[in-house]
Amino acid sequence: MNMISARLKLQEFISVRSDNPDLLKAQYRAFTRQMPMMYFILLSSTWALAITHLKLAPVWLTVGIPLAFTIGCALRIAFWWRTRGLDPEPQVAYAALRRTNRLAVGIATAFTLWSFLLIPYGDAYTQSHVAFYMAITVISCIFCLMHVRSAALTVTLIVNGAFIIFFLASQQPTFIAIAINVFLVCGGMMSILSTNYRNFERMVVSQQRTEALSNENFLLANQDSLTELPNRRAFFTHLEAELEKARAAGTRLALGVIDLDGFKPVNDLHGHSVGDRLLVSVGHRLTASLKASRAFRLGGDEFAIVAPVIPEDAQLVANANAISEQLRAPYHLAEGTVHVSASMGIAVFPTLASTLEQLFDRADYALYHAKKAQRGGAVLFDAEHEQQINLEARIQHLLKQTDIEDELSVVFQPIVDIRSGLVRGFEGLARWRNGVLGEVPPDRFFSIAERAGIVSALTRPLLKTALACATGWETSLRLSFNLSAHDLNSQDGVSSVIAIIKDSGFDPRRLDLEITETAFAHDFGQVRQSVELLRRLGCGVSLDDFGTGYSSLTRLHALPLTKIKIDRSFVTDLHRKPASYKIVKSLLTLSRDMELECVVEGVETLEELAVLKALGARLVQGYIFSGPMKADDIADFLSAHANSQTQPSSFALCRA
Ligand code: C2E
Ligand code: CA
Ligand code: CA
Repeated sequence: MNMISARLKLQEFISVRSDNPDLLKAQYRAFTRQMPMMYFILLSSTWALAITHLKLAPVWLTVGIPLAFTIGCALRIAFWWRTRGLDPEPQVAYAALRRTNRLAVGIATAFTLWSFLLIPYGDAYTQSHVAFYMAITVISCIFCLMHVRSAALTVTLIVNGAFIIFFLASQQPTFIAIAINVFLVCGGMMSILSTNYRNFERMVVSQQRTEALSNENFLLANQDSLTELPNRRAFFTHLEAELEKARAAGTRLALGVIDLDGFKPVNDLHGHSVGDRLLVSVGHRLTASLKASRAFRLGGDEFAIVAPVIPEDAQLVANANAISEQLRAPYHLAEGTVHVSASMGIAVFPTLASTLEQLFDRADYALYHAKKAQRGGAVLFDAEHEQQINLEARIQHLLKQTDIEDELSVVFQPIVDIRSGLVRGFEGLARWRNGVLGEVPPDRFFSIAERAGIVSALTRPLLKTALACATGWETSLRLSFNLSAHDLNSQDGVSSVIAIIKDSGFDPRRLDLEITETAFAHDFGQVRQSVELLRRLGCGVSLDDFGTGYSSLTRLHALPLTKIKIDRSFVTDLHRKPASYKIVKSLLTLSRDMELECVVEGVETLEELAVLKALGARLVQGYIFSGPMKADDIADFLSAHANSQTQPSSFALCRA
């Protein structure tokens, strides 16, 4: 080892390391615990030596100086006692350790000088006591200063250096033997101390690593790896804590849940990597738009905001709308620009939600309404929503009654071929009349039944009734019947539908089953299988409400459909609305290109009918011919329709 590296090693040995704050703090904690003990040993040994010299040496040496030492040590003990248990800042710990280093020099020098001053006054016994005193004290000090290696070394060097030189110089064989002995023992002790210190250092570092690892695990469990936002798990933990705080402080707390509109088509059209990058950008915009609030990714294209400081309701909704607006701005990605909007549902604690579950459910409910009525904007859960929830709960309860079948009925709306003027068939539509609630609209109770998972209990009796009615019709007429998502999303659902069709005796080739795009939002594979089974049976399958969903054409193409039904929203006033006109025109062209039949729904006026005729539409359903009618009225309707073939205008008055 050359001189420089030896010097560096010594320097490292005798100085306090400042580069590892955790090590500094651990050193500080360990050695402060031992300081009072070190001073106690120092003082008790000092007084023992002072007492054996009491009659031999002057009072200032045997009482005065030990008293001064005692006061000094007592002050230090008091200081360490007061600061025990404190968790110091790294720089405070560093300063304290360096001060200990300096104090060690002073204390070691003072005590050594004092013991040397006593030597001339005593005989061989008391001189041996001095040697014993110095040796034993330095050994105990090394122990106590174990975690401040530099101070331990300083003390050893000063005390032992002086001790060894002094006793070697005395030429007294016993003292020389003691000096050599002490030198060797201290050398050995320093080496043990050095090993211990290294182990201590390693232990602190490995503790740091374990902590870092557990921090990393915490991050993995609580962070969404794509957007780096806290995830669903972190969301519930955070919400619970914030709720607890708000409860204790009597403050309000808002929860916003966000769902992107139009994310699915971006994913379908541009691929998942673009979808992923879009989600990352949404995450960035979201966090950038928040101050005291925190954003989370709940999964998929769903996000949440927890806001612990909120203004009054109107301003809250305005702020939420501002966030939605920021999220709506175009996203410029490498592959091109994409557009999505963000609907948000908000619920406020404690106004209409007092528990975590309620807050989350109600924000979700408001989101559902935002998506339906306020797409791309924010809706705050209010008292009206609460009434709706209560009503829905009642509807759900009543739907589960055992005699629900007796309250259900089916009405039929004609579908007319406007080229031949003949009625092509009827769509069966459900009706529910309840003793308490009265007439409940079908889209209302079907969506509730769908969410409650009891829709097949409705589909079964309705399909049986519709098929039973249609069995009596002349064979040129077809029957259309609506299936729900749940009927197609499960093997049991579709099996039960097929069994009912087979049992009815109605020719499946005269049956069209209508499905909507919501059916295959979840499990496209299962729905395709269901549709294939129905087609194999001979049934037609129509895609209902076409144009309102977001499915890509490639997906639709993967289903063996036979018809599409153009949604009413594009048909209403299409002679006055160029956008609607263009959509209907291109949907008609599309259906021709895909070799699918097309039914135009919701035609109410002669003007609409005329435009549709000009566009080459063939099958039309709407109030212009008739609203839904009872099964018993079908015969009358058919004969009236046959008689009025030359005057279709009279049907404009024929409404349900
Ligand atoms: P949908 O399948 O799109 O049915 C067409 C709806 O439009 C019917 O409403 C019908 O009465 C109405 N409609 C027909 N022509 C016109 C028109 O010219 N103008 C206007 N404004 N409306 C017209 P309804 O009977 O209230 O049914 C609403 C929805 O409830 C249906 O929409 C369907 O989604 C669902 N639904 C009805 N019956 C069943 C059923 O048996 N099973 C399932 N799963 N859903 C059903
Ligand atoms: Ca339908
Ligand atoms: Ca429809």
